[in-house]
Amino acid sequence: MLTKPRLQIHQDKNAPPVTGLQASIYNFRFSLGEVSGACLLYNSRTNAVLRISKQLAAQLDNALDASPITMEALTKRLHADLVEALNSGGFVVDASLDERRLLKAMDQNARFGSARLALTIAPTLACNFRCPYCYQDHKSRHMNAEVTERIKSFVGKQLRYLSDFSVSWYGGEPLLVKDRVLDLQRYFFEACKEANVNFGSSMITNGYLLEEELARTLSNTGVSFVQITLDGAAPSHNKRRKLKNGRGTFDRIYENLKTASQYFERISLRVNIDKTNPEDLDIIRDMVASDGLSDKVYVYPGKVDAVTDASRAYAENCYTRREFAEYEVQRGMEALTRGQDIETFPRLGNGCGAICSNAFVIDPDGYLYKCWNDVGERDACVGQLSEQGETYRPQLAQWEAFDRFESEECRACPYLPLCIAGCSYEEIAHGDASHKCTEFRWNLEEIVKLKYVSDLRHRLQSEGGASV
Ligand code: SF4
Ligand code: SF4
Repeated sequence: MLTKPRLQIHQDKNAPPVTGLQASIYNFRFSLGEVSGACLLYNSRTNAVLRISKQLAAQLDNALDASPITMEALTKRLHADLVEALNSGGFVVDASLDERRLLKAMDQNARFGSARLALTIAPTLACNFRCPYCYQDHKSRHMNAEVTERIKSFVGKQLRYLSDFSVSWYGGEPLLVKDRVLDLQRYFFEACKEANVNFGSSMITNGYLLEEELARTLSNTGVSFVQITLDGAAPSHNKRRKLKNGRGTFDRIYENLKTASQYFERISLRVNIDKTNPEDLDIIRDMVASDGLSDKVYVYPGKVDAVTDASRAYAENCYTRREFAEYEVQRGMEALTRGQDIETFPRLGNGCGAICSNAFVIDPDGYLYKCWNDVGERDACVGQLSEQGETYRPQLAQWEAFDRFESEECRACPYLPLCIAGCSYEEIAHGDASHKCTEFRWNLEEIVKLKYVSDLRHRLQSEGGASV
């Protein structure tokens, strides 16, 4: 099986490699066991997966021992289809290609390209819930009409330079101020249509206020992705994700989720997991499957982190990254046993808007931040949308100048393509340079194998064949 790579090197396919081919520095090889006699090749720069026999793998090693090797010579030693798969999956690369430089160039392009604008807007810091680990301090400030006009002006004057504009709603709970959200959302939707700019919009909400009519209106004004968070099955959720008056919220959120799923392209259902509720992910996955929502609702475990001072008291219940990596594997095996598909798989590219130059988080008062962890912390703001237009503070430079490639350890790391812009908050905001490594550093082999078996089973079942 070859999973198509999502990152492409744009080169003339007919042009021969300049100096022949060599093995990619981002290749991994995982044995599928002695009985199968096969192994999986995985490439962390392209995300491609290829199953080959161990015998072929040995022949490949022998051939590449003499690298750089020409395409013709490699094709003589291996089957032409295999060479094509190795080439298009990035397992063999032009010997003149410096893959680390390529990664860096792509990263710079993603971070500093000016044709994209990404805003995360917190129209309120207030929330109708009181979760024990939450990092928001629930200042009850709502965005006013003046700030929404400043946002419109900020976006409006950039539109003619943009190809893509994306907005993520966030809070507090954004639906507490749904009129402000809809006002801005309608403006963005219409203005982008007129300016021929691709517009994408998503929302992170606790789901409690996401009733049918509101879901329909949000969808009609361009919101296509929604993330809703549960704290596990009803008993643990209701203990933790409570209203201010102490009442539980599970049933209403789940009912809203079922209705809303018909309006949005996709709903990510994040199930917050820590050491107090490890089994709850399976319960929610079973509910979603038995309600026939699996095509629209993607259930995944969310690692609870106590990041800020307001949430540190909860830290002892949180998994470390390494523990969470083990947890993901256990739950993946459980999902396979239950006949469910595995969706966990590395995502490539820049996942952190905070270090992209044309990405900002906006708080209810129109202050600009780079990372949503800082929202409401005025000392950390990097600028402001004021009456006179936007102004920026020197703090902006530390985000723009951040470079994961400066670290010798990261430059040499085979997981670098999977976490180029992994969360850098602690390093930038607090000078803590201990690496926040991707969880795949500890569970990549198991996750790739689980995904392979899950996809294979899915394919065989849809072809009416045997089960795995
Ligand atoms: S620094 Fe971390 S928390 Fe902040 S936006 Fe980037 S990935 Fe998210
Ligand atoms: S943060 Fe960790 S996993 Fe990521 S590139 Fe650096 S050393 Fe590797």
